[in-house]
Amino acid sequence: MKESCLCGSKQPYLNCCSIYHTKSELPSTAEQLMRSRYTAYALKLVDYLVETTHPDKLKSSYRRKLVATINDIQWTKLEIVKTSAGGMNDKAGKVKFEASYVEQGEEGVLEEHSRFRKIADRWYYYDGKG
Ligand SMILES: [Zn+2]
Repeated sequence: MKESCLCGSKQPYLNCCSIYHTKSELPSTAEQLMRSRYTAYALKLVDYLVETTHPDKLKSSYRRKLVATINDIQWTKLEIVKTSAGGMNDKAGKVKFEASYVEQGEEGVLEEHSRFRKIADRWYYYDGKG
């Protein structure tokens, strides 16, 4: 895939979220994890989404629900609105984003404040609210 990464970084996918999807590297910031999770939704990488969800928040039904719904939504654009903490030396961080999508021919925008937490140098998605 030579085109720009779906996360909107303007970098080729192979130099961007692919690095995290293939586990060559771990995201060093909450924003990187956020972007790579968005791209994972768009590319329907269910395993990556399960693996990057915080163990305290991972419900046993999560994978089944993802598999059931992930094909219904096409993600079209990600905009990071604001980040707080979530840097290399932080243990937690927040990312506010807007993600555009098309579902059954209808366009929509998901706005979310996501929280991320780190366990042993690894970032996880903790939870989010609109
Ligand atoms: Zn990317």
